[in-house]
Amino acid sequence: MEGAKRLSLTFAPEAGTQRLRNVINKNITEEDIENGMKLAFGIGYRTVKLYFMSGLPTETDEDILGIAETVRKIRWLYIQTTGRKDISINVSVSVFIPKPVTPFQWAAQIDMDEMHRRQEMLKKELYPIRGVHYSWHGAEMSVLEGIFARGGRDLSAVLVCAYKKGCYLDGWTEYFDEKKWFAALEECHVDVKKLTGARAENEPLAWDFIDFGVTKEYLQKEYKKALLGETTEPCKHRCNGCGAARMGKCRQYKKEEESC
Ligand code: SF4
Repeated sequence: MEGAKRLSLTFAPEAGTQRLRNVINKNITEEDIENGMKLAFGIGYRTVKLYFMSGLPTETDEDILGIAETVRKIRWLYIQTTGRKDISINVSVSVFIPKPVTPFQWAAQIDMDEMHRRQEMLKKELYPIRGVHYSWHGAEMSVLEGIFARGGRDLSAVLVCAYKKGCYLDGWTEYFDEKKWFAALEECHVDVKKLTGARAENEPLAWDFIDFGVTKEYLQKEYKKALLGETTEPCKHRCNGCGAARMGKCRQYKKEEESC
């Protein structure tokens, strides 16, 4: 089974514990992970790429340690299924960025010190596990992404200022110069803490003038449920009333009267 050596499985559990996966409504369970891995290892997969996020709303140290626990479990499942220890596990962890038109658009992003602390904690846990390679998304880049994700039109001045300082092709880490970006933010008097912090329910949001279909009421309801760890079933078989049908933006229901 020579070709099997190259078989690589990509999987995104996103969070290290079931509690946190429920918060983000990731509809997979420990059992799903276990069964999926066993099946894949049984047919020859020897490399696993895992994607997680840190800094998710309500995340605790226990959830971060849960990422390492999930990795250990997957390695153990491999050994148990194949009788071999030559598994390669690539663990990639990005930082959660609250995005507009999602239930987490009101949530805070963790600050840079906290990003570093959680990354280090996980590094210590993963480092001793044989065959594991850990990579993480830069904290500075994540803060910038958080700022631009929920910032308003005033950030255009930051873009121009950073460009004039020489910022260009910043998506490539070798070109990214965080000092220039943070200097531009300072020059333009951007309140980083405020932009990356939590938003009040009734606070105007920079994208309020765009009607995306999905209503704020629905997003707020989902946000509250998420914080309680209550999941919402995918709307494949039953409409959850998000509001998208109202504008014909729902692929399943073209008209509102058909949706609810
Ligand atoms: S079926 Fe359409 S309108 Fe209903 S919840 Fe899903 S996306 Fe929204």
